[in-house]
Amino acid sequence: MTDVRRHIPRTDVLLGEPRLAKAVDDLGRDLVKSAVTAAQNRARAGEIAPEAVVEEAVASLPTSASSLREVLNATGVLVHTNLGRAPLSAAALKAVRTAGGSTDVEFDLTDGRRARRGRGALDALARALPEVGGVDGVHVVNNNAAALLLCALVLAPGKEIIISRGELVEIGDSFRIPDLVTSAGARLREVGATNRTRLSDYTDALGPDTGFVLKVHPSNFRVTGFTSQVPVSRLSRLDVPVVVDIGSGLLRPHPRLPDEPDAATALAAGADVVTASGDKLLGGPQAGLLFGDHALLRRLRRHPAARALRVDKLTLAALEATVRGPEPPVRRFLDADVDALRARAERIATVLTRRGVDAKAVSTTAAVGGGGAPGVELPSAAVSLSEDYAPRLRLGEPAVVGRVERGRCLLDLRTVEPEEDERLVEAVSRCMS
Ligand SMILES: *Cc1c(COP(=O)(O)O)cnc(C)c1O
Repeated sequence: MTDVRRHIPRTDVLLGEPRLAKAVDDLGRDLVKSAVTAAQNRARAGEIAPEAVVEEAVASLPTSASSLREVLNATGVLVHTNLGRAPLSAAALKAVRTAGGSTDVEFDLTDGRRARRGRGALDALARALPEVGGVDGVHVVNNNAAALLLCALVLAPGKEIIISRGELVEIGDSFRIPDLVTSAGARLREVGATNRTRLSDYTDALGPDTGFVLKVHPSNFRVTGFTSQVPVSRLSRLDVPVVVDIGSGLLRPHPRLPDEPDAATALAAGADVVTASGDKLLGGPQAGLLFGDHALLRRLRRHPAARALRVDKLTLAALEATVRGPEPPVRRFLDADVDALRARAERIATVLTRRGVDAKAVSTTAAVGGGGAPGVELPSAAVSLSEDYAPRLRLGEPAVVGRVERGRCLLDLRTVEPEEDERLVEAVSRCMS
């Protein structure tokens, strides 16, 4: 034992090895030292030979200084909350990279003076949504929850927010929109019933204490049968501000999602403020988008809490590139043709079968997920593998996450970029037993 220990290379020697020295530059000393120490310990325990310590340390280096790992999302859920919701487009990623350094986020390079923060993103949104009448009709905060919080702080402190009982939504991870707005010091005034709310339910509740009427899209559930809710066009005739939380962030209607509300339609129907998420169907970074009346938005921007809810330069960069640039992945996934998905699944299954994997192409159903378009089924295609591939694929590099259905691991191609097909094939091949 002592003899073996004497042959284990010392830490300073190991850190001087060219590949490990380079890794110190890329990853920092602590991460490399942990890998080195772990390898030395394995040698001490007799699990590897002292000569293998360098290779073991190199092999166990993390690929990046962040512990977040790259995941190929093969779940068929377009906006997967646990996988970071919308993946950014290449254009947005490039913008983030540029903005990551020093950047003119609130600086005018022509005259060297301070400029409006994030004006590029505001301008892109205002152009994409002419209904708002320019950049003063747009504001961006940390997420949609923050957008609603700001509305409650500014429009209803100590006052009532009127909401239909059919729209008391829990958005996920046990966060509820009613709790969110009341945490800002507003009171909730619930009206109507779970399945039906009439205009008179709202008008009966109006009074001097009313802050605003809140209309929330039930984005993750559906109530069917004997139902009715009051449309924005009728609520907007009431003499109080109407805030409409559309949820998933479509700027305009989408033909595949006829029941999903969009900002342009809500504004045209008379909403005073529309709120939405940036990282659901808009396909951008996490952000809360506020559109609407210029005077109301000015009040929102000037509230002290606006500073606490503001977004950083990386978000602004990604948001602008998402809105101005090429279609983001979520939108391409949504529009993908099922025959093309099927052809890709067949090809991948054929290649894998040739390599000895029990793989076949199957038809599946994908979903928007993430609090959007509940009940919408998107026809899709997947590569079906035996169930025991699921854990091995999750632990691979890149990690691949599919879904397990009736004893099979399905890799749904609706949420995989066609350019990633080869990496998917290689990831599965590496998991062969
Ligand atoms: C997702 C969602 C929210 C919360 O949005 P975040 O951007 O996650 O804060 C609020 N309202 C509705 C209707 C939603 O679907």
